[in-house]
Amino acid sequence: MTTDYNALPDDSFRAQVREFFEAEYPEHLRYILRRARWDEMKEWWGQLYRKGWMAPNWPHEWGGMGLDAGKMLIYMEEIERHGVARPPDQGITHIGPIIMRFGTGAQKNFYLPRALSGEHIWCQGYSEPNSGSDLASLRTTAVLDGNDYVINGQKIWTSLAQDATHCYVLTRTNPAVKQQEGISLFLVDFKTPGITLRPIVNLSGHAEFCQVYYDNVRVPKENLVGDLNKGWTVAKALLGFERLAIGSPRRPAYALQRLKMVAQARGLFADQGFLDRYTALKLDIEDLGSLYGRFVEQVKRGEQVGPDVSMLKIWTMEAWQRLSELLLEIGEEEGVLEGVRNFGNADDPVEVDALTTFYMSRPGTIAGGTSEVQRNIMSRYVLQLPVSK
Ligand SMILES: Cc1cc2nc3c(=O)[nH]c(=O)nc-3n(C[C@H](O)[C@H](O)[C@H](O)COP(=O)(O)OP(=O)(O)OC[C@H]3O[C@@H](n4cnc5c(N)ncnc54)[C@H](O)[C@@H]3O)c2cc1C
Repeated sequence: MTTDYNALPDDSFRAQVREFFEAEYPEHLRYILRRARWDEMKEWWGQLYRKGWMAPNWPHEWGGMGLDAGKMLIYMEEIERHGVARPPDQGITHIGPIIMRFGTGAQKNFYLPRALSGEHIWCQGYSEPNSGSDLASLRTTAVLDGNDYVINGQKIWTSLAQDATHCYVLTRTNPAVKQQEGISLFLVDFKTPGITLRPIVNLSGHAEFCQVYYDNVRVPKENLVGDLNKGWTVAKALLGFERLAIGSPRRPAYALQRLKMVAQARGLFADQGFLDRYTALKLDIEDLGSLYGRFVEQVKRGEQVGPDVSMLKIWTMEAWQRLSELLLEIGEEEGVLEGVRNFGNADDPVEVDALTTFYMSRPGTIAGGTSEVQRNIMSRYVLQLPVSK
């Protein structure tokens, strides 16, 4: 029997979620500062799956919790409060909703249950060397040969590809037309011959993403999502979801909490200058929460997220960076040393990894569309300012 969580009073839903996280989520995985790997997260994934809580954003029909915007925010808030790490969840947050919207009946029946159970772990194959912000210039090709499309090319920055079983890949299927009109999206099984992964280690020492090479990779033509050469429309819809997910106040909220811990340990709340800066940042996070809630409501009403969602991404990532900079500053010499440091004392430890917080906030203004590109979108499509040629 499916539970109608939306019918529960907010307080009792919150209490249920909190109780479950506190009882079941592994203590050693709370508040980790890097992308969690599949090996670390698969047991937790299994627990969420068995409880029917793996996909809060999916409808009941596909095994999701079917949460409305208000309940979804509560769920997210409790994840943040307890420091629950993000698993490799692109199947749930990205390609799952896209398959629901653009996929065939067979694709829905095959891929959605497997994405939910964790049998399939997905990654996103969009960016290429020289095609990041200007994604429409991508050069990886897919050419029809019998019943298969044959994919050739190179992708880069594919997050956690080394943990994935599948990748959704944007390819060029018609080089003769306007760039955006010749792109198609394919679902690719990583077991297919011809795929080579090469991990890339980031500044904080973690292999967070990979280069992925496609050398005559044969993908059945049934794995095309949406219509041929209409992949740009699909990708744009996906970027809407992505911007909403990466605009969540979650990471800046973690950073604010750590800033508060270190500031308390250093007695900084007695300093008016610090208090001013801290209060301004705290208000930034409050504003961010309201803005995020507005977009979540929009998505839950079934409306398309518009170009103004760019504002959310700019605000989240830049607030996160401002917070992590202040954290590094007040951490002084201890703040720039690697790993978890004690900002308190032996009797009352305050353990925070300020440097990794700083490192992790840096790519936030790049991944999923840079801040400069988001500002271009805002000025062109929201503010309707004249654009120079
Ligand atoms: C942590 C992380 C995870 C990622 N995960 C994935 C993933 O899973 N899958 C995937 O496909 N990709 C992923 N990416 C890649 C990401 O989407 C690209 O890095 C991003 O789109 C920017 O592209 P680029 O790196 O090629 O930079 P470029 O586009 O080359 O930009 C370089 C600089 O030029 C600026 N610039 C570019 N165009 C303009 C313009 N028109 N106006 C003003 N300024 C401009 C940019 O703002 C930036 O400062 C990830 C990136 C990061 C950092």
